[in-house]
Amino acid sequence: MTPLIHPQLVNDVFGDPALYVEFKFEKRALLIDLGEIQALEPRKILRLSDVFVSHAHMDHFVGFDRLLRVLLGRDKHLRLYGPEGFVDRVAHKLQGYTWNLAHRFTNDLRLAVTEIHSGSAGARSDFHLRDGFQRGPVRPVELRNGVIMDEETFRVRTAVLDHQIPSLAFAVEEKVHVNVWKDRLERMELPIGPWLRELKRAVVRGDPDDRVFAVPLECGAGECRMSLGQLKSEILRIVPGQKIAYVVDVVFTEENARRIVALVRDADTLFIEATFARDEAARAAERLHLTTAQAGELARRAGVRRLEPFHFSPRYAGEEARLRREVGEAFSGASLVSSGS
Ligand SMILES: [Zn+2]
Repeated sequence: MTPLIHPQLVNDVFGDPALYVEFKFEKRALLIDLGEIQALEPRKILRLSDVFVSHAHMDHFVGFDRLLRVLLGRDKHLRLYGPEGFVDRVAHKLQGYTWNLAHRFTNDLRLAVTEIHSGSAGARSDFHLRDGFQRGPVRPVELRNGVIMDEETFRVRTAVLDHQIPSLAFAVEEKVHVNVWKDRLERMELPIGPWLRELKRAVVRGDPDDRVFAVPLECGAGECRMSLGQLKSEILRIVPGQKIAYVVDVVFTEENARRIVALVRDADTLFIEATFARDEAARAAERLHLTTAQAGELARRAGVRRLEPFHFSPRYAGEEARLRREVGEAFSGASLVSSGS
């Protein structure tokens, strides 16, 4: 299947965490974590609709200024999400600058900032360039099952994890993936066109099978009427949607492991920190991070298809191959066999 979601790390595996998530067919992207983003071109920043911040340690939030700098002066509405206290942190960042000339901008920049307190509750406030980014009223937000964003084709889910402070993990889930069998379309002499997009949307929305579609005829001579159920069985291939998950800065505890496995279960790709080497578990626990082996084991337990370890500690510069090998061994279960545990 042609993937809808295209995730890419902004920096190398030793650099600050930031995952750019693009959607095929749309000039629209998400950013998960906001470390240094100098490598992200302005045109890519302008495509962002939503930015998710795991926690406010500097290497996950220092990119806020570049984001703001690029978006300033644009007619733009950006949503940001972060852990408890995030509304305050964004307010402080914004108030670090002087906005006495803000009224001269013809375009307004609006930031809708949501902080997540649990899988069921959060709070939100809005900030506008036009009034110097004064904090708006803070309103409670209700969530269901950790879903913080729910759009027609995909949703974003979060889990609150323990990093001594709350650290958010995220999963981007395409709801259902719909492909058109082109050869069957040809055989039935039905044309390619905008009606197919509406058909796919109807499937994703879960419209009833007896909904009738006006299908244009290839020769341009009018249209025929077919039910959604008939079109599904004749020309569509419907498969489970793609899932991308992201986990950073967590200590390896049973509770964290349980929450991570529940969130990232069956992900097509998991981006996960593997900050310390396998033989440094004590140091990893003290610094509240995962080891390579722990990252691999979590992915194995969750039945993840592909693993992208990153956020390696700079102390291992030049040892990337070793770290990847350790992650891979734990992921495949090979290290469990070889250690006999
Ligand atoms: Zn951290």
